[in-house]
Amino acid sequence: AEVAAKNVLILMSDTGGGHRASAEALRDAFRIEFGDAYQVFVRDLGKEYGGWPLNDMERSYKFMIRHVRLWKVAFHGTSPRWVHGIYLTVLAYFYANKVVAGIMKYKPDIIISVHPLMQHIPLWVLKWQSLQRKVPFITVVTDLNTCHPTWFHHCVTRCYCPSAEVANRALLRGLQTSQVRVFGLPIRPSFCRAVLEKDEIRKELELDPKLPAVLLMGGGEGMGPVEETARALGEELYDYERRRPIGQIVVICGRNQVLRSTLQSMRWKVPVKIRGFEKQMEKWMGACDCIITKAGPGTIAEALIRGLPIILNDFIPGQEVGNVPYVVDNGAGVFFKDPRKAANQVARWFSVDVDGLKRYSCNALKLAQPEAVFDIIKDIHKLQQHYAAVTRIPYFLTSAFSYRM
Ligand code: UDP
Repeated sequence: AEVAAKNVLILMSDTGGGHRASAEALRDAFRIEFGDAYQVFVRDLGKEYGGWPLNDMERSYKFMIRHVRLWKVAFHGTSPRWVHGIYLTVLAYFYANKVVAGIMKYKPDIIISVHPLMQHIPLWVLKWQSLQRKVPFITVVTDLNTCHPTWFHHCVTRCYCPSAEVANRALLRGLQTSQVRVFGLPIRPSFCRAVLEKDEIRKELELDPKLPAVLLMGGGEGMGPVEETARALGEELYDYERRRPIGQIVVICGRNQVLRSTLQSMRWKVPVKIRGFEKQMEKWMGACDCIITKAGPGTIAEALIRGLPIILNDFIPGQEVGNVPYVVDNGAGVFFKDPRKAANQVARWFSVDVDGLKRYSCNALKLAQPEAVFDIIKDIHKLQQHYAAVTRIPYFLTSAFSYRM
């Protein structure tokens, strides 16, 4: 007999590009692996059903990370449990009815949160609706190391952590080992399963076929010292003695239009490609030999999968600080705040230190977890089958099972 599709509700918010990317990665992996067996909804419930500040998080976040000190205060100030506990309780109180309606509309069989502020309120909703035993609630953490404590709620069914560091933090916050799994950061299947031939993509992207290439970017918003670094690379990658370039530059500005037009108006001595928001990052990364970026978890995880040595040049205080040691201590890259030092490192990798480039590339590949997204959804599938089996048993019997919800 045909079994009805199970509904999966993924909760996210567009604060940074990473949460949506992870949500869509999970959705796509469900489709590839299980076809019509699951119907997946990716939703920003704060925006759709909450009032201020839930419906305005995108803008507030963008504002705060531009004013780094403000974000530091917000991140660390809300870290103690009593602070965010009170804050989220008040929000839940105000928006309870709307959020309940928002969640129930999708009749979820599984709820997955990929956002640090989407544990508490949805979990209360499940409790109010007496659904804790029927609907597994899952957190997929999308930060690689120093993440905000609101990610961890002891009532979740599972908490998927991208690294051992994050798993340790989860345990320190009181989660049980039975709740925690470590598979890696979910990356879009179109990215992690792409089969690429470097020569061919270079042709397709109209890059120089021979010159080594550096990819320069700053997350979805084109943040960090991208302009200064591009200038420095323009100098460092030109061999004045032989009067020829030793490398080429690809700059992906994301949604930063100002940056894009500034760079486009400049004159260059080496081949340069300047692009806006690109949909096929797997190709641009696949065509290049190393990357300079701010310490965004998505970009780092993707670069590792492509085996790109990473030069980190910036990080958002709080959640991205820990990404620096994650990359550097594992030998997958280096950190240079100074654009000239970063550019000089690239020049050396492209000339006298080719072996260094290879070594970092090998370490990057070792750290990569391209199958993480599939490991996660397969594990969720198993969990769901288990729940379905248990909830078929009359309720008074299920209380014999000890579920921590
Ligand atoms: N990205 C993209 N196209 C662009 C720029 C960025 O698809 O032009 C993607 C990138 O591949 C990564 C995400 O946006 O998956 C950026 O996430 P990250 O965690 O690095 O930084 P954030 O933008 O969230 O601060």
